[in-house]
Amino acid sequence: MTVFEAPEFAEHDEVVFCRDSRSGLRAIIAIHDTAFGPAVGGCRMWPYETETEAIRDALRLSRGMSYKSAMAGLPLGGGKSVIIGDPRRDKTEALLRAFGRCIDRLGGRYVAAEDVGLSVEDIETIGLETRHVAGLSMSRGASGDPSPLTACGVYEGMRAAVRHRLGREGLGGLRIAVQGLGHVGMRLCEHLHQEGAELLVADLDAGAVEAAVRAFGAKAVPADLILAQEVDVVAPCALGAVLDDESIPRLRARVIAGAANNQLAEERHGVELAERGILYAPDYVINAGGIINVAGEVCGDYDLARSMERVAAIADTLHAIFDEARRRGEATSRVADRIARARLEAARAVG
Ligand code: NAD
Repeated sequence: MTVFEAPEFAEHDEVVFCRDSRSGLRAIIAIHDTAFGPAVGGCRMWPYETETEAIRDALRLSRGMSYKSAMAGLPLGGGKSVIIGDPRRDKTEALLRAFGRCIDRLGGRYVAAEDVGLSVEDIETIGLETRHVAGLSMSRGASGDPSPLTACGVYEGMRAAVRHRLGREGLGGLRIAVQGLGHVGMRLCEHLHQEGAELLVADLDAGAVEAAVRAFGAKAVPADLILAQEVDVVAPCALGAVLDDESIPRLRARVIAGAANNQLAEERHGVELAERGILYAPDYVINAGGIINVAGEVCGDYDLARSMERVAAIADTLHAIFDEARRRGEATSRVADRIARARLEAARAVG
């Protein structure tokens, strides 16, 4: 990969490669933008097959964090880090602490939170070496696991999308397919079930599927068929790049509203969804609940009630995007990207 020419590296401030040979740490910290504040974003641990894959993930995810915070009106920039390795096999205290020292050397320009492959406890281990971590457990006066607020935001955002595309108030009686029953997906199912939605679910973990079937009367669907179900809404809550040339023609839902980051394999896939009359809730807008919650902790004035209010406002932001997309005959992903870029450019011009 030629990094400086890569389209993903168009706007980043800084990308740091970290190595600690004693613990086996190999990690990348991508700082996309700090015009609004410190670059806050999760740390993902994943067994990337190639370094290019890891770099690309860090670049795309960190840009997504800048857009996410800008759209949520938070005083935060965007960053993300990835540790190359299998969390079940390679995650040790020595490795996490070595990573903490790498973060510390950046002097607060990057603040790490939890992401796929890392738990709140792991972030606390990283925090033994640096104070630039967020999303620590509530028992320490911090904001705790961000997933419940992410799920709340996705739920509110899904209601907004359904009102806009299907002209319906509420989700009762709708058929909704949820891909991924992890920290966010399972919580989302709880909200949807409470409102009387009919759930179809899939996960690679059979135990999670069984739990959703038992708790919510959900119908289990094979993982490779979940996106193509005859449903009203699809909620991608697993990994990214699930909306691509192969999956989009098979979609039968009219609304896509889920938590996963980077759901579109490429930007053009957002246009393709719009051309097919499928309303896509831009991922970094609808899944901002977690970062909204973390923002209070980073700014030193955490307040759950205020976080909840801001999470509820995700629905208003989405309505504005949907309305503009309709008015201009444009894809919702394009509208959101344009607004986020304009906000970042304005902040850079001032800073
Ligand atoms: P998680 O790791 O707890 O859950 C992901 C689940 O998806 C796991 O149960 C996994 O088995 C399942 N999965 C993986 N591949 C699958 C496939 N092909 N088909 C079906 N299931 C599959 O992660 P999470 O914290 O619930 O986050 C889910 C997504 O939302 C991720 O993309 C994450 O980046 C994004 N997100 C999470 C938060 C948060 O607050 N946790 C905030 C914003 C965005």
